Amino acid sequence: MGMKKLCAVLAFLLLCLSMAACSPKEKAKYPTDNVYHPETDSHFMYAGYDVQMTESPDGYYVKMGDTLYFIDKKTLQASPLCGKPNCRHQDETESEKLIACDAFFTSSDCPCLEFQNGYLYVCAPDRLFAPDAQTAIVQMKPDGTERKVVATIPDTAVDCLIHRGYIYYADRVFSEEMDASYGIYRVPLDGGEKELIMPGNLQGGQFSNLRAYGNYLYTLEVASEERFDLRGVNLLTGEQLPILDVADELDEQTPYFKDGKLFTILVHPGEPENPEETWCGEYVLSDLEGKNWETVPFSFKSREENANYIIVSDGKDYWRYTLPYMGMSEKPYLFQKLDEKGNVVASIPDGYHISVMMPVLGGEDHMFLFNTTEDYHEILAVNKQPENGELKVQTCLRVSTDQFYRAITFDRNGDYDQIADRG
Ligand SMILES: [Zn+2]
Repeated sequence: MGMKKLCAVLAFLLLCLSMAACSPKEKAKYPTDNVYHPETDSHFMYAGYDVQMTESPDGYYVKMGDTLYFIDKKTLQASPLCGKPNCRHQDETESEKLIACDAFFTSSDCPCLEFQNGYLYVCAPDRLFAPDAQTAIVQMKPDGTERKVVATIPDTAVDCLIHRGYIYYADRVFSEEMDASYGIYRVPLDGGEKELIMPGNLQGGQFSNLRAYGNYLYTLEVASEERFDLRGVNLLTGEQLPILDVADELDEQTPYFKDGKLFTILVHPGEPENPEETWCGEYVLSDLEGKNWETVPFSFKSREENANYIIVSDGKDYWRYTLPYMGMSEKPYLFQKLDEKGNVVASIPDGYHISVMMPVLGGEDHMFLFNTTEDYHEILAVNKQPENGELKVQTCLRVSTDQFYRAITFDRNGDYDQIADRG
């Protein structure tokens, strides 16, 4: 082959390659399969808790009170996400200096904290970031620098997550006639109009416990008269999926995931002639469309048998913990890893007295427990790989109660009140 001809062939090959690189398939930015991708997907094992938390390749981010912390994966020690020299962070007592701390974010009804595509996203409801009646979604580098508001959502949004390029949230809106309606909305992360993806069905109802997995979003639709519906929506087609109509009340109806399946508790009222068996339930798995149900082998049929436990899944394993009744703290806390048959394979050491809300199930390495006493709030990391049947527990952070409950509030003009006298 002559040199000229070879060059022409090479040029043609290069053209083919560059065309292939620009084809729509190659340009697709977000996955469209039903596999969990931590780089682009909502970290479902951290979502839906009272505590905002997420994971990056190097560590964990957690919001405690008004302060955002980074927990280093190697040391498991937490530090405020602020690089300002001479900043006293959460120890600051002057309002102006405290607000100037980069780790300061006022509390939000919209608990969203996500780490995706190398950026941390934080919901900031205050006037430091967002205009009136808006909550800002603030994007930043892993070290908290280069902050930028990428979108705003209404400050009435009650739940929020980021998944495959969209911000999802639940909200209630009023018509001009002041008729209330509610739904789940989404806005593109890179800007654009909001879109209703799931309208509310129940009189006086609301959505909560949003979770996303693959091409699906799940939520609990709750209304008075003790009605709990677990619903889903296909995010690619918009198809609405009624998954469960849970007629009775239980502390746990959240959608979880296990080995690519939907995992939750199916609750139904007990027999009328046997009132002690009110709140019967079974742990169940289904496919992601809410079809092909199977009962988890260690399910219970009567709540009485299993009243002290809740079983959850982090996507991979089953975990069992003591139901966090109020005032439970004088009893030892139980936290166990289960095998597929429900046998206990590991536990945290005896003697922990933890008034936990919910454990945050976490990713591959750690899960997190939150302990509240009169004097302090603390975060405990549990190493998920047991040693001789024991799950090692380590304190990541302890914050005094007066640091946890800041008395800073913002009014509509963006002015803030002074920190109230503590003590
Ligand atoms: Zn600071």
